[in-house]
Amino acid sequence: MAKTIKLLVLAGDGIGPEVMTEVGRVIDWFGRHRQMKFDIEPGLIGGAALDAEGTPLSDTTLALAQSADAVLLGAVGGPKWEKLPFDKRPERGLLRIRKELGLFANLRPAIMFDALADGSPLKPEIVKGLDLVIIRELTGGLYFGEPRGIDSPKPGIRRGINTQVYSTPEIERVARVAFDLARKRRKAVCSIDKANVLETGVLWREEVQALHDRDYHDVELTHMYVDNCAMQLVRNPKAFDVVLTDNMFGDILSDEASMLTGSLGMLPSASLGAAGPDGRRPALYEPVHGSAPDIAGKGIANPLAAILSFAMCLRYSFGLEKEALEVEQAVKGVLAGGMRTADIMQTGKAKVSTAVMGESVIKELDRAR
Ligand code: NAD
Repeated sequence: MAKTIKLLVLAGDGIGPEVMTEVGRVIDWFGRHRQMKFDIEPGLIGGAALDAEGTPLSDTTLALAQSADAVLLGAVGGPKWEKLPFDKRPERGLLRIRKELGLFANLRPAIMFDALADGSPLKPEIVKGLDLVIIRELTGGLYFGEPRGIDSPKPGIRRGINTQVYSTPEIERVARVAFDLARKRRKAVCSIDKANVLETGVLWREEVQALHDRDYHDVELTHMYVDNCAMQLVRNPKAFDVVLTDNMFGDILSDEASMLTGSLGMLPSASLGAAGPDGRRPALYEPVHGSAPDIAGKGIANPLAAILSFAMCLRYSFGLEKEALEVEQAVKGVLAGGMRTADIMQTGKAKVSTAVMGESVIKELDRAR
């Protein structure tokens, strides 16, 4: 008997529900054609949850997330809720679920699909074949360090304070994610810091190196200063396999890397927590893009980032590498066949709707079956 996979699906706002409908088709396909059984629980998050439940993430939805094998999320936010105080905004739902599930490792692949190489802001020869992953520490560092705030040490002078702080366990657990992932890829981790200026950088470098020497000597480890990495990502991005970095540097570098591939509509992500005593690891999969209010409701959003996020879910939550590859190959096939949503449109290609793009992925899965 196939194990039942319990998924909580939080479609959210704007184009979230539109792209998640297409993910639903892919899940259905696997349920019908593979020895897989899915138990899908829909839930509310963001503005949709605010409207229905008065909070961007209810305790009930959080409990569902905690008991699910994985959470699939669409996107949150939109102009309707922009005037609300910060603690009531749809985005708080997302921050809360990440925090409560303890999602400390954020994985953002930057993969260049050959068919789209001309759409990159870089020359095709620089990005063709690009396949790297940025692992960003997500729950520590400068964005959470104390003390923080704005005070006034003297009359008429204001002072802003943030604290960059990391400890050995925080560095080790995210570094393990990077090394484990590298073992399944090209076995190369480049760890990014600012050890020439920051003590946290010195610690980061030493702890990553020590963990490597202890447990991962089969993986090649290099270190790079963040300013150099920012340059190398546009000069020779194909030199990277797994890039490991802290919260703030990861925020910036992952956006830089994602733009190498041309479109927000193509970018998936995963956020992973620590495995519990039952071996289950909290995980949330979501496209990098937001709720795109400018195109919401028009049926033109690109569903591929969300579909590729589901492929990451198959791979990282369930070890279903073959099935993850099937999804990724289907996306490649659809692009090679000339299908394009508006955001990735190129001359001579067929401009299609969200639904037709989703149907085309299913046709590709059928074709390769
Ligand atoms: P956005 O990612 O929603 O949109 C940026 C641009 O990219 C828009 O022009 C949009 O039309 C386009 N775009 C995004 N995804 C697309 C897709 N799948 N297909 C085609 N085009 C796509 O970012 P924004 O406009 O800065 O933010 C809009 C709302 O989304 C805000 O409320 C913001 O807070 C929220 N947001 C949510 C998340 C999330 O849920 N993880 C992430 C970023 C922004």
